[in-house]
Amino acid sequence: MRHDWGALERELRRLLPPRAVVAARQELLAYDCDGLTLNRHQPPLVVLPETTEQVAAVLRLCHERGVPFVARGSGTGLSGGAVAESEALVIATSRMRRVLELDLDNRRVVVQPGVINSWVTRAVAGDGFYYAPDPSSQVACSIGGNVAENSGGVHCLKYGVTSNHVLALEVVLPDGTVTTLGSGLDESPELDLRGAFIGSEGTLGIATAITLRLLRAPQSVAVLLADFSSMEAAGEAVRLVTAAGVLPAGMEMMDRLTIEAVDDYLGHDEYPRDAAAVLLIELDGQQREVAAAAELAAGLCRQAGARSLRQAWEEEERALLWKGRKSAISALGRRFPSYYLQDGVVPRSALPRVLAAIDGLSRRHGLPVANVFHAGDGNLHPLILYRDGEPGVRERVQELGADILRLCVEAGGSITGEHGVGSDKRCYLDWMYSPDDLATMQLLRNAFDPLRRANPGKIFPTPRSCAESARRVQVLRAEGVQLPEEAVVF
Ligand SMILES: Cc1cc2nc3c(=O)[nH]c(=O)nc-3n(C[C@H](O)[C@H](O)[C@H](O)COP(=O)(O)OP(=O)(O)OC[C@H]3O[C@@H](n4cnc5c(N)ncnc54)[C@H](O)[C@@H]3O)c2cc1C
Repeated sequence: MRHDWGALERELRRLLPPRAVVAARQELLAYDCDGLTLNRHQPPLVVLPETTEQVAAVLRLCHERGVPFVARGSGTGLSGGAVAESEALVIATSRMRRVLELDLDNRRVVVQPGVINSWVTRAVAGDGFYYAPDPSSQVACSIGGNVAENSGGVHCLKYGVTSNHVLALEVVLPDGTVTTLGSGLDESPELDLRGAFIGSEGTLGIATAITLRLLRAPQSVAVLLADFSSMEAAGEAVRLVTAAGVLPAGMEMMDRLTIEAVDDYLGHDEYPRDAAAVLLIELDGQQREVAAAAELAAGLCRQAGARSLRQAWEEEERALLWKGRKSAISALGRRFPSYYLQDGVVPRSALPRVLAAIDGLSRRHGLPVANVFHAGDGNLHPLILYRDGEPGVRERVQELGADILRLCVEAGGSITGEHGVGSDKRCYLDWMYSPDDLATMQLLRNAFDPLRRANPGKIFPTPRSCAESARRVQVLRAEGVQLPEEAVVF
């Protein structure tokens, strides 16, 4: 359906404050992609509301005019979620950056969705609190984006992902109704619609106020750096540490390509340059508990073949050890102009085998792959490095990405751990779920958004973009399999 964007722009200007509607071609360029730069589509219009009431007014107008919309936070997503592929209004939350309420007695903070992840900890650190989910993009990504992607991060191994730290959500539904999901309490008896919304990638509505759980900062923290002569040995250390019952706050691995890039980027060899892999293990808790866990983890790393071990207890030295990990993607970006970051999950025990297989796939496709990832929860982030502009390279990159994800699924894992499905992985969703499963998910979506105007075309396979999925449905139908209506409407 074609929309009259000129007329919509005039109506939006009447509803919103001055300079809250972006319509100039040059300015719209800033919204044509997210962190997945392979997929670019310039939206016809962008709005920048500041309040829940303004978001509700915009969505009511969209509802009346039948206009689809896409929520956007900071645009750091890696699965194409914040991009308007088909013509849709982009509703960006970058002016919704207020902390609405701070309730330290009950360890809660209420924020607008555009608040940047790391600002939450910054706001409460002086009182001895912090917000646990810490994506590596935390200095840029928004809490609204974190909710929509159910984001993880280094500390999610011990403390859980975003859904474990969101107590309530104020949400504007696609028809403009404002509602609250969750009670703000730790436990409540209602159906968990808050949980359903978290991770729904902007397909159920727009979160406009988010109540977050705060944690007390731990008494003691230690970071261990272990280096290995093979990725397999580092993978074995991860297995041994978790099998021994140690639960690190974070456990991250980097391969040689990443180590070299990081050392070049930092300008000194923070990580041993000749290592095939390094492992960073953070332990936190009471002083004696941390000391005992650090000793045990160090012994297990040695048993797995660690060549050297370094321990950091002081904040400054710990930050130095983490700096390389946190800047790994930028460091690789300096060496290779383009990258495609994947996000597969495998059972921890399969790590050594899958890492070796990824190396094989990288050679077969003739494209370098760097590995920097949340090893403790088996969440791989293979970074496919390439030079854009080479003929056919984008197709090769995407084929390699798909092969890696297929490997993860075959190893009993998943096509995504924390970056969401978006548009990037929608054609792979039916590798994991049957038509009945997909239909059930669609029923939930329809309950929030019967006309499917919220972030259209995302998450679920579409017949236009997923020929293989469409063929599978045709074959099943030809075989006489009764498919639920929702499974084939996509
Ligand atoms: C260098 C780098 C490192 C990263 N590291 C991690 C990591 O360690 N862990 C991790 O989980 N992710 C990581 N990411 C991915 C990304 O930062 C997260 O997915 C993040 O949550 C996206 O937030 P955003 O504000 O940028 O959202 P956007 O990219 O703007 O949007 C993401 C999705 O959220 C939806 N959305 C945005 N705001 C709202 C709202 N208010 N209501 C409803 N839907 C909304 C959008 O429609 C879209 O589908 C990384 C990305 C980069 C570039």
